Amino acid sequence: MRLILLGPPGAGKGTQATRLVEKHGIPQLSTGDMLRAAVAAGTPIGKKAKEVMDSGALVSDDIVVGIIADRLEQADARKGFILDGFPRTVAQADALEAMLDGKGLKLDSVIELVVDQGKLVERIMKRANEAKAAGQPVRRDDDPEVFKTRLEAYNRDTAIVGPYYDRKGKLTKIDGMKPIGEVAAAIDGILAAYA
Ligand code: AMP
Repeated sequence: MRLILLGPPGAGKGTQATRLVEKHGIPQLSTGDMLRAAVAAGTPIGKKAKEVMDSGALVSDDIVVGIIADRLEQADARKGFILDGFPRTVAQADALEAMLDGKGLKLDSVIELVVDQGKLVERIMKRANEAKAAGQPVRRDDDPEVFKTRLEAYNRDTAIVGPYYDRKGKLTKIDGMKPIGEVAAAIDGILAAYA
């Protein structure tokens, strides 16, 4: 199964992707996680991306498309994958389509988690507090001011990716404000067709 999870930061994409990894035995490809790993490892890409990520802006299309192209070459992505946080621009969506076309592959489904953006800051603060309580590091970009910039980037560059896939007949929207279990059930209902 080849799936994209769309939605603004804090919509719950990561939570659902982690669950789907267990259920379907396919990897979660999160460009955010890959970039954070590159920053932590101090690679050239990490050095370029760090400041941009800390500001809440988007890393350049070239960098993230390159990361995804490499990741799709790895053996575990052959069975399928869940893209989380990519594509975030129409240029990235076009690049993904070209990559998949080159491999003779097609996306099965694009699921957009629709959320009330007014409630997201609250949600993201909860995530930061839970991480802190669990002794885990808090993401620098989960700061309220930076989060606002991330939301602006979403509304400017990423919100149009949903309609892009809708025109291709791939998009299903679900209510991401429901409890986690209900969102999970809605996703499973959509994916039942591809099991
Ligand atoms: P995330 O963990 O998905 O919220 O991503 C954290 C940060 O990494 C974002 O705010 C961006 O700076 C960067 N990032 C992750 N994925 C992408 C992408 N597909 N395009 C551009 N920037 C990205």
